[in-house]
Amino acid sequence: AKKKQSAKAVMYDPVMHESVSRDMIIQQELKKVIERGELQFVYQPQIDATKNWITGVEVLTRWTHPVLGPVSPAEFIPIAETSGMMEKLTRHQLDWCLKKFTEWRKRFSFTGVIAFNISSGLFRNKNFIAYLEQVIRDHHIPFNQIELEITENIQLFSHRESVQTLERLRELGIRVAIDDFGTGYSTLSYLNQFPVDKIKVDKHFTDQIHHDAKGEAILVSIIKLANSLDLDVLAEGVETLSQSEYLQRNGCDYMQGYYYFKPMTLEECEQFYYEKVLK
Ligand code: C2E
Ligand code: CA
Ligand code: CA
Ligand code: CA
Repeated sequence: AKKKQSAKAVMYDPVMHESVSRDMIIQQELKKVIERGELQFVYQPQIDATKNWITGVEVLTRWTHPVLGPVSPAEFIPIAETSGMMEKLTRHQLDWCLKKFTEWRKRFSFTGVIAFNISSGLFRNKNFIAYLEQVIRDHHIPFNQIELEITENIQLFSHRESVQTLERLRELGIRVAIDDFGTGYSTLSYLNQFPVDKIKVDKHFTDQIHHDAKGEAILVSIIKLANSLDLDVLAEGVETLSQSEYLQRNGCDYMQGYYYFKPMTLEECEQFYYEKVLK
């Protein structure tokens, strides 16, 4: 006979209880660190592998809580998004990182891009886009040295606001990259209709190299399509030399991943530039 489940067991799930309160703690604590401007930012270089050259750096957020320890952005960014904290977080990130970037451009004659991850909600926020434009002007940074990474999703191309924003950014010369390409709603067919400059092929595809023939075939056709549309195509999560060689053989020149660089603090980036570039 089937055992009856007790009402108590149904209503109280200790695992769920624990994760709900962790989310709540993260939300409360994050709010405080954002307000105090205490988040850290790291920078991961993007490489042109044929030229052996750094073409840009992507800004990623880091947070270490005194009790919880390091909390991954994969965990706290979605919480920040659903609780309306991304605008404040990203404005602070822009203020801080563009100030640093201004010093960088001068000190190292850096002509590459600085790339920011922009949540899709923010991308549709006209006030935020106006702020972005203003803060770039305030720092006298050429617009073509700024790149925005936006995640491919259905909303991006179906909202009139997003399309207007894409057009405005194109007018200014700010670059737009489609992040995590190939994971969302496949928008291959939209690519030629919207003004974007680059696609970042998700790490998922890089992982398939030498492991899954069908995955490789998809990867290669994405690269071909991007090249034929005159888009830059970058592979994410490149961890080995053989992945890098495979990608180059198949027409993908831009790479990012631990094989080249892990995300680095500003101090580590500067150290690298002093040792390798200025010598
Ligand atoms: P993403 O934008 O796709 O960033 C790439 C993630 O892969 C980063 O994780 C990076 O550290 C990691 N990664 C880079 N190369 C490798 C590699 O070779 N191997 C492996 N295993 N991982 C690699 P991270 O920093 O933990 O960020 C996770 C996600 O959180 C990001 O994915 C992005 O969606 C989001 N995120 C992080 N910082 C921000 C931010 O400031 N704003 C927004 N809106 N999203 C952010
Ligand atoms: Ca990204
Ligand atoms: Ca990505
Ligand atoms: Ca990703």
